Amino acid sequence: MTGFREIADRVYVMRYPVLDVNVTLVTSPGAALVVDTLSTAAQAGELADAIRGITRDPLIIVNTHHHFDHCFGNATLAGAGVPIWAHEDAVRELRERAGSLPQDLYERWLPSEPELAAGLAEVTVRVPDRLVGARATVDVAGRAVALHHLGRGHTGGDLVVHVPDAGVTLAGDLVEQGAPPSYGDDSYPLEWPDTVAAMLRLVPPDGIVVPGHGAPVDRAFVRAQHEQLGELERLIREGHADGAGVLDVAARSPFGAEASLTAVRRGYASVPGRWPGFRPCDMGAGPVAGAAPVR
Ligand SMILES: [Zn+2]
Repeated sequence: MTGFREIADRVYVMRYPVLDVNVTLVTSPGAALVVDTLSTAAQAGELADAIRGITRDPLIIVNTHHHFDHCFGNATLAGAGVPIWAHEDAVRELRERAGSLPQDLYERWLPSEPELAAGLAEVTVRVPDRLVGARATVDVAGRAVALHHLGRGHTGGDLVVHVPDAGVTLAGDLVEQGAPPSYGDDSYPLEWPDTVAAMLRLVPPDGIVVPGHGAPVDRAFVRAQHEQLGELERLIREGHADGAGVLDVAARSPFGAEASLTAVRRGYASVPGRWPGFRPCDMGAGPVAGAAPVR
């Protein structure tokens, strides 16, 4: 059984072993905010038990983005009347794909994680019902928690959750510890660095940042990862201008070639102007052979 650990005043993090994903609980007498809900009904059931070990107050849920490992536990965790907040782009993604996504994910994950795949296939996608544009404030029984959309990056609808009275910032998958940032076919590698720069302005010098995956980190860690995100952005822009191949640019990435192939392809597709070496078959949206699984 995985449990929560208090990392700041009434801010608890559960680091769930499958995909090393984080769930954060922010409590106040009378209400509790749950940020992200894991991947399957079974995982969310474990999460509900762990929450009840800390509080039995009514829940408010936030999804940092639309990827399954952050929101597929919604239906299990959220009883009737429990609000679920997410960015409007994340809501649109989930609404449009709610019918097909569990089966698509089952097929994608079956070879590497058969138990996870079986759980994904059975999920009923519960679409968030509280939409966030640029910013919203959630009142957690008198404790104000801010939800910010600071730009695109890991996805088009990333939310940063800021708990100012505890100096804690929840980055979702805009920041990753223990593995390279996850560049998928819905990521924005050329915009990601600016989004993290905007997030850093929320983080006090002694603040704690909870990444979507891995251990909580400090400001210096996020600054260093921001440098790396910016370095890859620069390599993509320069490579595009020089007509360099995707593989050549990915091989120079600070995150390594395998983790960067999709980033370079996505970046090349979005740089204004025509890449000299452009061939449509290089730019397909499908998975890249050998690329790291997206989460
Ligand atoms: Zn993600």
